[in-house]
Amino acid sequence: MPAKKRTYNTRVIKRDYSYDIKEISELLDVHIRTVRQWIKSGLRLIDKTRPFLMHGSDIIAFLKEKQIKRKRPCEFHEIFCFKCQIPRPVWEGLIDIKITGPNRLQLMGICNTCSTKVFKAGSVKKIPNYVQTFNVQKMEGLHIIERNYPTLMCHLERILKNE
Ligand SMILES: [Zn+2]
Repeated sequence: MPAKKRTYNTRVIKRDYSYDIKEISELLDVHIRTVRQWIKSGLRLIDKTRPFLMHGSDIIAFLKEKQIKRKRPCEFHEIFCFKCQIPRPVWEGLIDIKITGPNRLQLMGICNTCSTKVFKAGSVKKIPNYVQTFNVQKMEGLHIIERNYPTLMCHLERILKNE
């Protein structure tokens, strides 16, 4: 299901205030579930104790990034750079992959332009594509997927042996 396209009015958020989930949902007129989804996809919490609080400046940065990404989505070989504020190719195509769950992983690289560390969420199923597109330096957490993806593991072993 495609996400509803909309712009959030970040001007109602004060940079130096902290907000809880309910306050943000009311301020921006979005569902509480939407705010929870934002947290899952990277909106930073001040800490992990309840009630979950977010910094105004983090919320603004998160929503602005969302808007930029929508205008110019990342190509497969690119990762969004916070400093450049646009998707960039990674330096030398080098990335590290960290498997974080049975289906999820994180790609890490360095911005080709400003050398800032860049991160992108990815999926385990696409590992063969990442290996093809990027110069994968390191792959962490393979033990997490060993059992669920026997064919992929076979494929990876073949790739690693060729090197
Ligand atoms: Zn950059």
